Amino acid sequence: MLGLMQERPLLISSLLEHAACYHADREIVSRTCEGRLRRDTYRTLAHRSRQLAHALIRMGVKPGDRVASLAWNTHRHLELYYAVSGIGAVLHTVNPRLFPEQLTYIINHAGAKVVMYDITFDKLVADLRPTLDHVKTYVALTDADHMAGMPEGSLCYEDLLAAEPTEFDWPVFDENTASGLCYTSGTTGNPKGVLYSHRSTLLHAMMLCQVDGLALSSRDATLLCVPLFHVNAWGVPYGSPLCGAKLVLPGPNLDGKSLYELAKTEGCTFSLGVPTVWMGFLDHIEKTGADAKSELMMQRLIVGGSAAPKSLMRKLDDLGIHAFQAWGMSETGPVATVAHALPKHDALSEEARFDLRCMGGRPMFGVELRLIDDEGRVLAHDGDTPGELQVRGPWVTSGYFGGEGTGPDAEGWFSTGDIATVDPDGFVRITDRAKDVIKSGGEWISSIDLEDAAMRHPQVAEAAVVGVPHPRWQERPLLVVVPKGDAPDKAALRDFLTDYVARWWLPDDVVFVDELPHTATGKLQKMVLRKAYAEYVLPDVATGNRGAAE
Ligand code: AMP
Repeated sequence: MLGLMQERPLLISSLLEHAACYHADREIVSRTCEGRLRRDTYRTLAHRSRQLAHALIRMGVKPGDRVASLAWNTHRHLELYYAVSGIGAVLHTVNPRLFPEQLTYIINHAGAKVVMYDITFDKLVADLRPTLDHVKTYVALTDADHMAGMPEGSLCYEDLLAAEPTEFDWPVFDENTASGLCYTSGTTGNPKGVLYSHRSTLLHAMMLCQVDGLALSSRDATLLCVPLFHVNAWGVPYGSPLCGAKLVLPGPNLDGKSLYELAKTEGCTFSLGVPTVWMGFLDHIEKTGADAKSELMMQRLIVGGSAAPKSLMRKLDDLGIHAFQAWGMSETGPVATVAHALPKHDALSEEARFDLRCMGGRPMFGVELRLIDDEGRVLAHDGDTPGELQVRGPWVTSGYFGGEGTGPDAEGWFSTGDIATVDPDGFVRITDRAKDVIKSGGEWISSIDLEDAAMRHPQVAEAAVVGVPHPRWQERPLLVVVPKGDAPDKAALRDFLTDYVARWWLPDDVVFVDELPHTATGKLQKMVLRKAYAEYVLPDVATGNRGAAE
């Protein structure tokens, strides 16, 4: 027997119309690429998205067509989120920080018909244009005053909107229709497309607004430091209209000073971003001596997308900001787990509760997870046994766009490539990417834990650990450090680490560098480092000693 309840599809347009109706005056503040600060509301977002919907249809965009964006976090990019998906087309957010060859590959693979770009990418678009096979229309996301110098034949976004009415009847279609397409960072092989649906997006957005999700609410003013081109900015552009949170979009300026000023002047209560963004933010506070405790209203802040050094989390905490982690990936919508303590943890020490917040977190409702070993056997959730993390759920991918790569198994389990432990309460602790784990004498050394320990040292700005070949142990850890000021003494640094990790984990050598390689989304590029140090001769190997692991 079927229930007698209405089967209204979960559509992205309903988020917009809800906010336009019930949070109409809530603000969306945006640093534009033209430089000025622009103030919108959910009412004007709805008006302009509806105008854009008309313009897209007039342009010939049909349901299922891919519309690519090369754009920062601005009000216009947000309008694309609603208008493109709202008419049943697919918003293909492209990471402009990738190499041109990767951009060509991605946009061609996606089969995008339209490219909408920020004026900061005029040269990039002009260079890419001859290589893009399917694109018919280019739109510069700006007004007529800033069209000079844009690639020839580009349409002017504001002119397109101005010609259209602010009312539009959003079509109603199957909630499983594709809404967005985002390619993985592609640290190995070609990037792969993750194709989100209206249903997955809405369910994920609903969970973000749960107290045990991101606790996003109408009381929040969110400084959105995660790019709209990276996994839908962790779903916050959808969760915000759902609950009426104010949105503050930093445009192209993600430096510490710009973010601090915006957080201060806009009274931001919540923010989220990768560790490198917060390093810049804290650097600005340290350098200027800004009185963040009294100037900021920031209550909660998520450090995610990559392992967060505890030292960074602690500094944020010291400013009175409740810093916590979340874990996920492009293939998981992206938020899967969030680090909130349980009531039973209230009795723990402050340090122990802080440690919980530095873990990847527990699954939100809807996300199932498990660990497996190399043979595919399911492992215990005892907080101790590491294995590959697998996930499944309604906002986990069921396969890549174009059928590439390896999707989930027949039971829906998707292998994340992350090595983790899971404790009996479901707290995930990411210890490595599978390919970054250091295998020393058959035992595993967590590069993330070693990096975290190294970054507690006052003379370490950033650290990376990679495995380098060793004749006896197969691999041993090499610590690569960007020093803060004078480089620390190597032996003293190793000594410092003994407080945090087992002796046999200690790196066999330390090298100092000016900077570490990062991916376009701010993650450490271990592959580049591994290549660079593939033939590195460790001191004990050179001298014929048996090795530091002994
Ligand atoms: P992406 O698909 O580009 O978002 O990258 C996802 C990957 O980022 C995950 O598979 C993890 O390796 C890493 N990651 C995300 N969140 C965390 C976290 N909280 N701690 C450690 N690694 C993380």
